[in-house]
Amino acid sequence: MKKEKNNKILKFEELSWKQLDKLDRKKTIFFLPISPMEEHGPHLPVGTDFLAIKDATIEAIKILKQKKPELNYILLPAVPIGFCKFNTDFPGSVSVSGKTVRNVVYSTGSALADHGFQYMVICTFHMALIHLKGIYSAMKKLESKKSMKICEPWSPYFYHKNVEKNEPKLGFDTTKELHAGFRETSLMKYLYPYLVDESYKDLQNIYRDMSSPRNLGKTFKDFGLKDGYVGSPSRADVDYGRWYFSETVKTLIDGTINLYEGKKQIELPKNIKRTMTALFWH
Ligand SMILES: [Zn+2]
Repeated sequence: MKKEKNNKILKFEELSWKQLDKLDRKKTIFFLPISPMEEHGPHLPVGTDFLAIKDATIEAIKILKQKKPELNYILLPAVPIGFCKFNTDFPGSVSVSGKTVRNVVYSTGSALADHGFQYMVICTFHMALIHLKGIYSAMKKLESKKSMKICEPWSPYFYHKNVEKNEPKLGFDTTKELHAGFRETSLMKYLYPYLVDESYKDLQNIYRDMSSPRNLGKTFKDFGLKDGYVGSPSRADVDYGRWYFSETVKTLIDGTINLYEGKKQIELPKNIKRTMTALFWH
């Protein structure tokens, strides 16, 4: 019974202003999960990124509570938004502009900072650069204008290709698994097996290189992706899903501890930062 109580996660929406006000500003970290509703092939739910990052954040907080019980961890309500214009030619994708992402992250952070809170961890599973541009520009403003200490751990891990470097060897090229393919289908088979449509087993492997700048503004259907996935969902494997999830959780934990201890965060690779800066707001 006692253990259960210790495991309880403090949810922002369940606290009163009095309870929030009692929290030690120097020892309280807020977590903001944010990822859009977005089509993920014919076999995965539109909340794939949203559900996965929300669960990873909750798991990270549970472990952090054991590792550093002297701190308070507050879970903000997960925000179901992001930029995903490139696949809005399917029902279920809801895209907002990078500026909207920026405003939501900034407004949330500054509301906390205005009452003396300093620490915030942004948790996203959605790696579109315009989405990240919104997050990173809000983070910069919160650091400079509100003296916040803030980080977003997953995209640097992802763009340094640490998934490829660290994942169990599989015997096929996983670098082409871009969207709702092997990785995400495995992840959902692990987290939400009842939300994965059995048809995933019959989906054929589809690969596209969409990274070239001249492809900017093109949608999935422009690329002939009529089912909305890129990769090989039929290879999905629960054990890989478990590994992928725990890797995400670990990355969020490491980022949070580094943030609190004032250590340098792993940054996005230079080329990604450059591209992000060059991209127009949408
Ligand atoms: Zn996704």
